[in-house]
Amino acid sequence: MKRISGKSVFEGIALGPVLVLGDRELQVNRKSIQDVDAEVQRLQEAIGEAQAQLQQLYEQSAKELGEGNAAIFHVHQLLLEDEEYQKRIQDRIQMQQVNSEYAVSVVGEQFVDIFASMTDEYMRARAADIKDITIRLIKCLGGEIGKVAELTEPVIIVAEELTPSETVVLDKSKILAFVTSRGSTNSHTAILARTMNIPALVAMDMKPEELQSGQYGLVNGFIGEFIVEPSESQLEEARAQMQRIAEQRALLQELRGKEAITLSGKKIVLNANIGSLDDLESALVNDAEGIGLFRSEFLYIGRDALPGEEEQFEIYKQAVQMLGDKPLVVRTLDIGADKQAEYLPIEQEENPAMGYRGIRVCLENPEILQTQLRALYRAAVYGNLSIMYPMIISVEEVQTIKQIAAAVKTELSEEGIPYRDVQEGIMIETPAAALISDELAKLVDFFSIGTNDLTQYTLAIDRQNAKLDSFYNPHHRAVLRLIQMVADNAHKAGKRVAICGELAADTELTKTFVDMGIDELSAAPGAILQLRDIIRSLP
Ligand code: PEP
Ligand code: MG
Repeated sequence: MKRISGKSVFEGIALGPVLVLGDRELQVNRKSIQDVDAEVQRLQEAIGEAQAQLQQLYEQSAKELGEGNAAIFHVHQLLLEDEEYQKRIQDRIQMQQVNSEYAVSVVGEQFVDIFASMTDEYMRARAADIKDITIRLIKCLGGEIGKVAELTEPVIIVAEELTPSETVVLDKSKILAFVTSRGSTNSHTAILARTMNIPALVAMDMKPEELQSGQYGLVNGFIGEFIVEPSESQLEEARAQMQRIAEQRALLQELRGKEAITLSGKKIVLNANIGSLDDLESALVNDAEGIGLFRSEFLYIGRDALPGEEEQFEIYKQAVQMLGDKPLVVRTLDIGADKQAEYLPIEQEENPAMGYRGIRVCLENPEILQTQLRALYRAAVYGNLSIMYPMIISVEEVQTIKQIAAAVKTELSEEGIPYRDVQEGIMIETPAAALISDELAKLVDFFSIGTNDLTQYTLAIDRQNAKLDSFYNPHHRAVLRLIQMVADNAHKAGKRVAICGELAADTELTKTFVDMGIDELSAAPGAILQLRDIIRSLP
């Protein structure tokens, strides 16, 4: 039994096998196999083939570059022959009944770590050779490397950190919890966990490589604890707690169909934040009144090229149709910072959070925005759709967007393509936008306050930097004053104001937001019913 602590970013209990996403370059899919002997035979054949390849490389290099330079392939051959290396792979296949590719990658990673931690410099440098032969062997087995594992069973994902482009390709129905050694309270892994309503810990005090896939884990998001190979009594206690949580959730279900209205009659709209159509189902299950933030960038990441107009149109159309007459607010592409798409022209930056991201990318590459807007205006014919723009800092940006939007609609009319005009709003997530919200309010239909970025920029604290978590105070008076200012300015212009950052689900602030006059809260689907419960008890 190993007890590991971490910083909880979402409550809950999860029990299940651990999947360690270690060195992504060595990552392959784990499969269960029936015939262990045939699998060991397949491994031996692949080792034979790898040896033959290395022999050929040795001979070719010796001829072209001399024996000295060719010696490295000889070293690889010796490493591949190593009895301990081969035995560990075979043992794993036999004991865990897993495919050879997977066994090779796990043992390869272990050997890489052993060599990398040696004091002798020569031996340390052999880590790269082990990695090389491991990749060669996996390829000889016909395996595909470099992909985040395909999930075949529900697992607790353990990793150093997960990027949005990695999480977007994971089968969400098979994730029980996240545990990462890096990552901050506001990292996208944390937001994803809240959206999925599963426990998550960041900043765990152990390296992922010290754990092994297949070990049994217990994640307790209430106290920030991750137990590997828990005892029977710990399991029993966790099951009892899970039962209690299920009962509490069942009680909240009684609030389905009821309004979020205070005792004095003030109505608050409770919407959900989503990143995909799967999340939309969860929003409906939790009786959200609509979708206040569809993070459309998730359609753009974890793939090789931009999504085209038709592909986007189909997704937005399906989303509004699933919602019936409930509203869907789609945020246009907010790429950059931690959300990267390799095919987009975003270079590595010194300071990406303050860099080329959000609306800046779209204004520099208007064709990307035009395609998205065409898809959105067309999909609007099928339901209740609105659009909002991220990372706004100026009146001029909004004016430019309006020109682009008007041109897109003219184009659609001229082409005779059916479309519908929609309500258009902006995210208020920079102090600049908050401070000129009186001017901006005159130009748009609504505001949605993105408190994650607003807090990051107001406090000058990188939301991804776990080291700064103790300084990151989302209840900071500066942030709350900006929110109040934005709400007042919106209302003076007769416009609606929502909060869609993580703070919307912070129950300690629900009363404050209601008192401030916030019209709508948009939060992770799992938070909706609890917020409704609280609002209904407010004076
Ligand atoms: C925010 O900044 O609060 C927000 C909702 O946007 P994101 O978290 O996607 O940056
Ligand atoms: Mg934001």
